[in-house]
Amino acid sequence: MNGILICNKEVGEGKAINTRAEIREELVEKKSLFLNTGNQFVGNTDNHLTGYCTIDPLLPYVRRLLELVNMMVDPFIEDGVEAILSAGVGAIPLGHLAANVLIERTGRDVHAAFTERVESKKQAITRYGSVGAIAGRKLLVIDGIVNTTSTGSGLIDIGRELGCDVRGMSSIVANRGASTKSLSVRKFFSLTDMEYDVFTPEECADHGPCSERWPMVVDPSLGHGDRFQKQHPEYMGDFVTILPPEIPVNS
Ligand SMILES: [Zn+2]
Repeated sequence: MNGILICNKEVGEGKAINTRAEIREELVEKKSLFLNTGNQFVGNTDNHLTGYCTIDPLLPYVRRLLELVNMMVDPFIEDGVEAILSAGVGAIPLGHLAANVLIERTGRDVHAAFTERVESKKQAITRYGSVGAIAGRKLLVIDGIVNTTSTGSGLIDIGRELGCDVRGMSSIVANRGASTKSLSVRKFFSLTDMEYDVFTPEECADHGPCSERWPMVVDPSLGHGDRFQKQHPEYMGDFVTILPPEIPVNS
């Protein structure tokens, strides 16, 4: 690629979208980020949320991903990173692109491994050969989204258990509560940030969106509202889908 993307600068052909506010707006437009929709969502840990974020809609657009990943690794260029650990499944492309970008920009050989979800809240490296490839190296942890109670700190712990020097963590989106302190990491960077309220199912029924009968989003691509609908058909609010159906290109 021509040149190197520097964070918050416009580069390349056309207009690059690079400020934090613009990237947040891009995520909203691409149906990656949902804020203040008046609906509620069910997250991976069964909590009820007043917003939702998934990087899935970004993943097919490799050139844009490469631009985003360039910006994500930019603050870590001088940190001697020798390996990337990303959270599977969604962030695997980010991790491998990040290693590729670091190889090109630093000339160093950079390895990349990813975790998989092995229990509802637990990630682990499961692929043979990956542990040995990153153990003891200077590590950058990559994820698409970092929440305060996310897989992020789990990935950092896995790196430390493998004797890695964890140089930092980088993400596309971070919940406003995520920080070097909450993640116990020396450097943390995100391209943009977001914020929504989180309730346990009990709290939600007592004083959250469920108590006010907010519509529940049940799109299978947006969390687990569909599971909630099966378990709680008696819920007094509406069940809604908010994603338009996908139209095959060649139909
Ligand atoms: Zn609820």
